[in-house]
Amino acid sequence: MDAKWLVGVDLGGTTIKMAFISLNGDIIYSWEIDTDKRESGRYIPTRIASTIDQKLNELNQTKNRLIGIGIGAPGPVNVDGSIEVAVNLGWRKFPLQAILERETSLPVAVENDANIAAIGEMWKGAGKGAKNLICVTLGTGVGGGIIVNGEIVHGVNGAGGEIGHITSVPRNGSPCNCGKSGCLETVASATGISRLALEKLASTNDISKIRDYYEKHQTISAKLVFDAANEGDELAKRVIQQVVYHLGLALANLANGLNPEKIVIGGGVSKAGDTLLGPLKEEFVLYTFPRVAQGAEIVIATLGNNAGVIGGAWLAKERLINKSEVK
Ligand code: ZN
Repeated sequence: MDAKWLVGVDLGGTTIKMAFISLNGDIIYSWEIDTDKRESGRYIPTRIASTIDQKLNELNQTKNRLIGIGIGAPGPVNVDGSIEVAVNLGWRKFPLQAILERETSLPVAVENDANIAAIGEMWKGAGKGAKNLICVTLGTGVGGGIIVNGEIVHGVNGAGGEIGHITSVPRNGSPCNCGKSGCLETVASATGISRLALEKLASTNDISKIRDYYEKHQTISAKLVFDAANEGDELAKRVIQQVVYHLGLALANLANGLNPEKIVIGGGVSKAGDTLLGPLKEEFVLYTFPRVAQGAEIVIATLGNNAGVIGGAWLAKERLINKSEVK
């Protein structure tokens, strides 16, 4: 009998990433499809089911090879595997687990997408070996996942680990998608960083590469800010200093409560590498209880876009192996 495979699925607003993954967490075959959001996202589970069949076919395999599906979806997840609300998919009280189990005839485990990315990094990435970690994803928004003793923290109604919505600017902060204002997401996401850079430009007349670029192109990306800082641009460095102040403070306060072994920074913004990590570590230490600071290592995520599917596979392995008959 050939070794069984796990199916990891990372469901995003634009694409669905999928992979067949070994029990050791190695990707055997991966692919992606567009997210079909027509009619309030009702076709999404059917498309996932049909593409699994199709790939099995192409690889000359049958469904017997598969143990089950672990899927990460945006939005808070209820204990029955339904999604409370996923605005960008058009879902509201959507019974994802039930529908996907019916469509695929496989057991399914559902988790929040930021949480499975955290699990992926814990299993095979930058958090490997750690049982207590904080993962923060700095992308268009800021996502988070907290793992304590190897278990994802869900909280009472599935909203645990929402690091992006820690209040960083308590007064007169920028409005956030969640309805609050001044969230970490408004100052540490790619969008937040470019907004801070624009604010800095408007408040000074300092010469800067960012200003030259903005006058030509009327736009500033987070990457531009990091690149300019790397080249010694003073205004860009001040923007980054502001970003790492907020991020370092939020992570320090979380760490003071959790005493983690690793803090994994992922997402597009983390590609800045040491330009982000260096000043971030300095800020973090300032606000962290010394013994907590000794125990915690801040690292850049290593799995990139694969963190979600690998975390999904871990979920399938941990939660579904007893539900399906592994021979
Ligand atoms: Zn928010």
